[in-house]
Amino acid sequence: MSFDSLGLSEPLVRAVHELGYTSPTPIQQQAIPAVLGGGDLLAGAQTGTGKTAGFTLPILQRLNAAPAPAGHAGKRMVRALVLTPTRELAAQVEESVRAYGKYVKLKSTVLFGGVGINPQIDALKRGVDIVVATPGRLLDHMQQKTIDVSALEILVLDEADRMLDMGFIHDIKRVLARLPAKRQNLLFSATFSDEIKALADGLLDTPALIEV
Ligand code: AMP
Repeated sequence: MSFDSLGLSEPLVRAVHELGYTSPTPIQQQAIPAVLGGGDLLAGAQTGTGKTAGFTLPILQRLNAAPAPAGHAGKRMVRALVLTPTRELAAQVEESVRAYGKYVKLKSTVLFGGVGINPQIDALKRGVDIVVATPGRLLDHMQQKTIDVSALEILVLDEADRMLDMGFIHDIKRVLARLPAKRQNLLFSATFSDEIKALADGLLDTPALIEV
């Protein structure tokens, strides 16, 4: 099994090969074609399985292949949003977006609390395609209208079980209420409590199911 055979384009395959990845992990083998297909996804995966590349690579490919809709004066709009439970994970995921996206012309930024908001506002003003964020700080930006999510196409909840454990359910619901209704939704979780199942039920439309 190779990365090309999963339907990834050459610039993305080149980037992962340069990182020393020779073949996709089991979650990548399943998630990449599913996400490229455009449907929703419910994935059971622990950290360390390669799940980050499992959603990042097909998102980069989808955004790179289909230009943003016109009408925004050529400005980049936020088209993909990844929510994570912690700052550390947010920073790590955004690093991965940059590494895997080295040869495609998409921009990303990371938003989390505990640091000044102004540099984040400046980054958003310059225009980004992909935002990785923790729920609380993202909500601050939404409430202050410093982020425009009207062009959002893809939402990822990464480590959804940890986000619920950390008490983020209300913030997540407030974020969801502000997103465009028509979008692709991906939910990754290591465990499946009733609370996660309820969240997935409300969020996902006939998702592909993956468990590794
Ligand atoms: P993750 O589960 O997304 O946190 O990834 C765990 C680790 O596996 C990270 O350090 C990745 O750089 C690495 N990794 C992801 N996919 C592959 C792959 N296909 N081959 C080798 N290493 C990988």
